[in-house]
Amino acid sequence: MPTPPIIILGGGPAGSTTATLLARQGWNVLLLEREQFPREHVGESLLPASIPILETLGVMPEIEAAGFTPKYGATMVWGRDDAPWSWHFRETNARYPHAYQVHRPQFDQILLENSRRAGVEVREGWRALDVRFDGERAAAVTCRPEAGGDPQTIEAAWVVDATGQSGLIGRRLSLRQPDDFFRNLAVYSYFRGAQRLAGIDSGNIFIEAFAHGWTWAIPLPDDIMSVGVVVDAAWAAERLTEQQAAQFLEAQLAATTHTSRMLASAERLDEARIVRDWSYVSQRLVGDGYILVGDAACFIDPLFSSGVHLALSSAVLAAAYVASALRTPEMRAPAAEVYTQLYMQQYHQFREMAALFYASNRTADSYFWEARRIVGGEDPVTAREAFIAAVAGQPPQGYERVVLERGEAPPDFVQGVAAVEQQRAERERAAAALIDRHWPERSPLLDCVPILAEGVQLERKPVVGDGEFEWGAVVSSPSRPHGAPISLVVARLLQGLDGAQSARRIIDAMLHGLPDEQRAQLLPGLLTALRVLYVDGMIARFDAQ
Ligand SMILES: Cc1cc2nc3c(=O)[nH]c(=O)nc-3n(C[C@H](O)[C@H](O)[C@H](O)COP(=O)(O)OP(=O)(O)OC[C@H]3O[C@@H](n4cnc5c(N)ncnc54)[C@H](O)[C@@H]3O)c2cc1C
Repeated sequence: MPTPPIIILGGGPAGSTTATLLARQGWNVLLLEREQFPREHVGESLLPASIPILETLGVMPEIEAAGFTPKYGATMVWGRDDAPWSWHFRETNARYPHAYQVHRPQFDQILLENSRRAGVEVREGWRALDVRFDGERAAAVTCRPEAGGDPQTIEAAWVVDATGQSGLIGRRLSLRQPDDFFRNLAVYSYFRGAQRLAGIDSGNIFIEAFAHGWTWAIPLPDDIMSVGVVVDAAWAAERLTEQQAAQFLEAQLAATTHTSRMLASAERLDEARIVRDWSYVSQRLVGDGYILVGDAACFIDPLFSSGVHLALSSAVLAAAYVASALRTPEMRAPAAEVYTQLYMQQYHQFREMAALFYASNRTADSYFWEARRIVGGEDPVTAREAFIAAVAGQPPQGYERVVLERGEAPPDFVQGVAAVEQQRAERERAAAALIDRHWPERSPLLDCVPILAEGVQLERKPVVGDGEFEWGAVVSSPSRPHGAPISLVVARLLQGLDGAQSARRIIDAMLHGLPDEQRAQLLPGLLTALRVLYVDGMIARFDAQ
């Protein structure tokens, strides 16, 4: 009997990426997409962090050839005053200093065609109606061609729910929890002839805070601009009907200073659309025989253009998860836990930063902004907790840095950041003084006893290997509760830290029996590992012997 396929529901970025990566490993993959591509989709602004994944998928030549707008950063009216300011990716990402503003119908089609080329059976115009559970296990999918015809039930080796905001499994199992802080909705459309920003900023996303919320303007090819407003959902509900969406959008845009100027001679090309399903997270991301990926698992307010990146990066993890779950059943439970942790870590990072960003804006006084000044809304997260969740004890970069410089961040956030930065700078200096870069063997650090910080744990956990989860080492601490994967060499180094032996003895034991030449090659790397563990707070101190 032929083995049933892995069935992917939905052909957006999350579904097509999971499908491609699994098919490349030789799995039998069937993807059901209810629309015929190219299909309309909002969410055009990408992040540089997605570029390495697009490279892995092999679609960068097509993306470059498509003529999408290069995006070097963001220009915002947000923070303390209402003058626009720009922030550029090169400030934090030297390797990938730009992303793209993409026409989503075309971008998503490039990814879906790539799945076909990888060997995925892609059925467009096929709607998944339901998932059949045998007990707790997702066992089959019932689907039907949109053009008409009888429903079919197809047995599945595994079901990947990538149905985006429709969230087939999440809704069926009532897994979805709304996010009380981001109770917003968006109304958007496309315009031709809008004025663009100047010079290097001409491809930036432009975001403007105004009395009732904020607007985005995303420059696309062919002189088209994606323009939308994000407003309070309850406030808008009283004023907005589907028929009047265009008038509502235009009234909001007219209330802005800069966006209205940019649109002064532009014409609206399309109807105005409303997105009401806002921020939510699923209580469970993985179950017996199924996994949720991309927006089907969670969605955050689009302030930081994080959606496509989360879709792509969760898809990489989901493909690894499904491959491991099918090949190594005993890996199912521990890898499911790690998938959930890794996805939720990214989700919370963007979520907490977005909440802080809202809380830090002072450009407008209104109900909208007043209600968002308390980070976390009714489920309060202190600013310090938000900061720790967001940057895991690292100094703030990128958007976090911008919150500090441009907005009025809550005082305990600012203090938290200052304390972390100061501590890291002091530790950097202290560690540098203990390492001799020219004569590593003579480093005073080698004669010290490294003392592990309280609460640091070394665990054996699944880590993402070559397309699958495999057992690896993860170190965690109270400021990094989810842990960071480390190499087996660093894991051995950490295991040697018993609070009694000097670094030299620990390293000697590790390198015992190796020729001098190899030892000399490995020593600088081990000294660097000790330095990084110290700066990150995993090693509390270096005691004199
Ligand atoms: C207002 C707004 C603005 C946004 N702006 C940005 C932005 O600037 N940058 C950014 O990165 N992200 C943005 N996003 C988020 C981004 O659009 C999504 O996060 C991203 O599309 C998620 O990808 P996905 O593959 O999970 O879901 P989707 O792209 O939504 O794909 C899901 C697919 O599943 C199909 N499907 C649904 N139900 C079924 C079914 N029953 N059977 C078969 N197929 C089905 C759908 O047709 C669709 O093609 C924005 C979102 C909103 C709401």
